[in-house]
Amino acid sequence: MSSGRVSLVGAGPGDPGLMTVRALELIARADVIVHDRLIPAGALDGARAGAELVYVGKEGGGPSTPQEQITSLLVDHARAGARVVRLKGGDPFVFGRGGEEALALRAADVAFDVVPGVTAGVAAPAYAGIPVTNRDRASAVAFVTGHEDPTKPGSALDWPALARFPGTLVFYMGVRALAELTASLQEAGRPAAEPAAVVERGTQSDQRVVIDRLDRLAERAAEAGLRAPAVTVVGAVADLGLQLSWWQRGPLAGRTVAITRARAQASELAARLRELGARTVETPTIRIQPLAGPPPELSAYDLVCLTSPNGVVSLYDRIQLAGGDARAFAGTTIAAIGPGTAAALAERGLRAEIVAERFVAEGLVEALSQHPVRRALVARAAVARDVLPDALRARGAEVDVLPLYETRAGNPASDAVGRAQAADYLTFTSSSTVRFWLEAVGAPWTPSPSTRIVSIGPVTSATLREAGVEPTLEATRHDIEGLVATLVADATAPRDGSGTG
Ligand code: SAH
Repeated sequence: MSSGRVSLVGAGPGDPGLMTVRALELIARADVIVHDRLIPAGALDGARAGAELVYVGKEGGGPSTPQEQITSLLVDHARAGARVVRLKGGDPFVFGRGGEEALALRAADVAFDVVPGVTAGVAAPAYAGIPVTNRDRASAVAFVTGHEDPTKPGSALDWPALARFPGTLVFYMGVRALAELTASLQEAGRPAAEPAAVVERGTQSDQRVVIDRLDRLAERAAEAGLRAPAVTVVGAVADLGLQLSWWQRGPLAGRTVAITRARAQASELAARLRELGARTVETPTIRIQPLAGPPPELSAYDLVCLTSPNGVVSLYDRIQLAGGDARAFAGTTIAAIGPGTAAALAERGLRAEIVAERFVAEGLVEALSQHPVRRALVARAAVARDVLPDALRARGAEVDVLPLYETRAGNPASDAVGRAQAADYLTFTSSSTVRFWLEAVGAPWTPSPSTRIVSIGPVTSATLREAGVEPTLEATRHDIEGLVATLVADATAPRDGSGTG
């Protein structure tokens, strides 16, 4: 029989850097990944292309998948021989129902292992500068949870026992229950002046923290508009957060940025934006379809022009598929439209001698103006502007154009399209992302006035204008770094007459 297996894996509290090495290894090897909502952004980026990803969390406040259904999913896949990762936020055995799932797996005689994760109750306070134990202030810590709805059975915590607990109390509970929680603790004898803290979205780049006396905490948290997920810390250690606060909110904290480019290129941009604090929505409107064909005879050209990282990938793949390697480029000059394309070349051991200073075809024409060209190959997308080949021909060069890939509709999920339309920033990184976005939302399209439309450069902006949409921002440098810099500059710029700061 097959040897399927389930790994109950903790994904940590949200900062992707707090995922364990073991978690990443198992994700990379898994056939099936069954995951919750509260897992770090990008946690599944390392999954195999063929892995089946099953989401079992709550979708937009709706009901979550019933627990029996989740366990039978795990059992069925493992019995079919799959390597299954059951990925949960924080630690699987801390308020994560990992124990229940392990019992069900044992009962079904399915092999399993457990990979502990960094739990929110320790990590969120730590990122707020609060050590949950401290020599002088607390020599014990209790992790507590309860139902958020006080009318539900099981919500009754033993408040007198908790009030007597000689140490720090950490509550894994929504902020909706905060007023009730702080009142009950005081009634049961915990001092009104005791330090307490709420940490919202702990360890994430938009983490927020409120520290105050126990009797004022709920009001302060409500004023600040804190929401789930959050942990509440009660005890003398909470005060240390005032001295030890160290975590910096990123410049894009609290902003949502939608990314319309192909999935394969989106993750790098998304990761960069999240590092700066943004929440990202990936809405891949396009996908890149390489065109099959023999590799070009590069030695016939004295110049090879590459106009996108996709072009580099497709061209090199063709060469490799035919048994060749970087030596195919020997003796020819390589020109790249920008640093992204140059970087894709560098990854393959190839140096672009000529890199445009303005990352558009016109920029490459300029960069080549002093360069003698007899025979050139322009390797690029099937549909593209003819600026570069025309300009080279006008200078007397013989030019071949090699179409390497096509851009097709990416068919993003409709909920992702909806979330992208509500984002603070909606980014377009090429004319095709604009065209296929319009296909996804249906033209004519009127963006929401609160969404800032961001274009990577003049060509993309022109395509937007053709559709009747004026870009709010255009990157001054027409590459991903330039786009990110433009977003940061906009997000941190003082706004006239706006109260959103
Ligand atoms: N197994 C998880 C806990 C799951 S219960 C763990 O070990 O961390 C879900 C609760 O955890 C949330 O309601 C919230 O109270 C807390 N939580 C999860 N992630 C959090 C985060 N990043 N910041 C603050 N609290 C978090």
